[in-house]
Amino acid sequence: MSADLTHIDTWLFDLDNTLYPPSSGYIELIEERIRQYFMRLTGLPSDEAWAVQKRYLDEHGSAVPGLIAHHDADPHDFLRDVHDVPLDSLEPDDGLRQAIRRLPGRSLVFTNGSRWHAERVLGRLGLADLFQEVFHTEAAGLISKPDPRAFDALIRAHDVTPATTAFFEDRAVNLAPAAILGMTTVLVGDHAKASTEAYVQHRTASLTAFLNAASLKTVP
Ligand SMILES: [Mg+2]
Repeated sequence: MSADLTHIDTWLFDLDNTLYPPSSGYIELIEERIRQYFMRLTGLPSDEAWAVQKRYLDEHGSAVPGLIAHHDADPHDFLRDVHDVPLDSLEPDDGLRQAIRRLPGRSLVFTNGSRWHAERVLGRLGLADLFQEVFHTEAAGLISKPDPRAFDALIRAHDVTPATTAFFEDRAVNLAPAAILGMTTVLVGDHAKASTEAYVQHRTASLTAFLNAASLKTVP
């Protein structure tokens, strides 16, 4: 079934595990850096340190707001440290590039990662020039999806009209505020088909296949 996206003129994409597949193993490199960072920060053994960051992820959307709320830690130092991993496991994806290129209107990235992380990953994937804006965590004032304040900041900064915006994400919870705002929501990943959340309107294992099959606005 192809999706009717003829009303969409703004294409909003999460970055990690959405514009590249989890099977790349790239995110696991970052998660290992996060684990090491929290072990140094808390002095706790591996599993307990991981549980602390997991709690921040669940409560705040990412580790950064938790660091700010509960620790005397520099969030910029954290972001630089945990994203400093090799890019070798990421491959340029020409199929996805072509699929995004033909979308009518503008394409934006909305990530809980840092500006530096987003720029180097998009560069490695060969997608950087396709996005008019990258809304990263510094731009959001270090507030993370799914906090509605991060969405408000994005909408204000880039004059986004939710009713004509489609948002693509691998984390279902991040689609909830988007749906409330009136965006069209698309859950991406092997887990998507099994999701039952009412705020998920479309589900696909393949972002490229979904975009290629969708009905799009005709540009005069
Ligand atoms: Mg993601």
